[in-house]
Amino acid sequence: MPPLDLSIGLGTSGLDDPRTCTDTVATALETGYRHVDTAQMYDNEAAVGAGIAESDVDRDDVVVATKVHPENLAPDDVRETARESLDRLGLDRVDLLYVHWPIRAYDAERTLPAFDDLREAGLADHVGVSNFTPELLREADEILDAPIAAHQVECHPRFRQPELRALADEFDHDLVGYSPLGRGEILGDPAIAEIAARNDLSPAVVALAWAVDRGIVPIPKARGDHVRENLRAVDVDPPDADLDAVDALDSGDRQIDPDDAAWNR
Ligand code: NAP
Repeated sequence: MPPLDLSIGLGTSGLDDPRTCTDTVATALETGYRHVDTAQMYDNEAAVGAGIAESDVDRDDVVVATKVHPENLAPDDVRETARESLDRLGLDRVDLLYVHWPIRAYDAERTLPAFDDLREAGLADHVGVSNFTPELLREADEILDAPIAAHQVECHPRFRQPELRALADEFDHDLVGYSPLGRGEILGDPAIAEIAARNDLSPAVVALAWAVDRGIVPIPKARGDHVRENLRAVDVDPPDADLDAVDALDSGDRQIDPDDAAWNR
């Protein structure tokens, strides 16, 4: 199995209108994205798959990631609903299949072997986890035959996840940062706005360039012109002092409360 090669991805949560979702995915791929993130929960896998099919980009050049819904984490449901996801996506395999959240039907000893089965059957190239604590991450690492290829968690300048990033280095997996723009909340941050203006960048590009520089794989959700704009983050190189200033913005201010609406994302 080739190693997972993750670059900035297109987040698709909230791309609810099928035509908009399909067009956005196709445009993103033609613009240069090579990583698309969806989930059973987003109810848009078919539209995402249509966008991949409509683009000129070879499917094998794209990392397609989806996530098994927390309600579907009993072993038989993992196997059955992952196949349903592939049907909706119109693909014979995904590159990355995540446990979306270790809640509801999640039971490490029963859930994770089903992910190994799907990998061994060639339906998922790599296994990922999302929204795990350090303890649950260590447990999953012990149970899975497959190495954990990626851990997807909320990560942006106001919520930098130092412990999980250190663990990602220890386990040698990618840290995929969701809500990398803080769901839009950090775009008005005065410090980010000042850095953006001084470097002739947009606030979104500053936040995403910070993530890329720090080894985080951001997956911003975007539509229209924002899709192309965000991709600039991989090509710009803000001064180290400005990136250090972004580091200082961590307020522990997360957008998604795991105890609140965890399974509704
Ligand atoms: P986000 O990417 O931080 O923010 C999205 C918001 O930022 C949208 O309102 C978008 O507006 C706006 N935006 C994007 N680019 C912009 C730009 N250049 N300038 C101004 N505004 C911009 O939030 P998110 O959707 O929560 O997170 C991203 C992805 O992470 C999701 O789509 C999903 O794939 C994943 N995610 C995973 C989990 C999980 O539990 N694993 C949880 C949450 C999210 P427009 O749409 O109008 O461009």
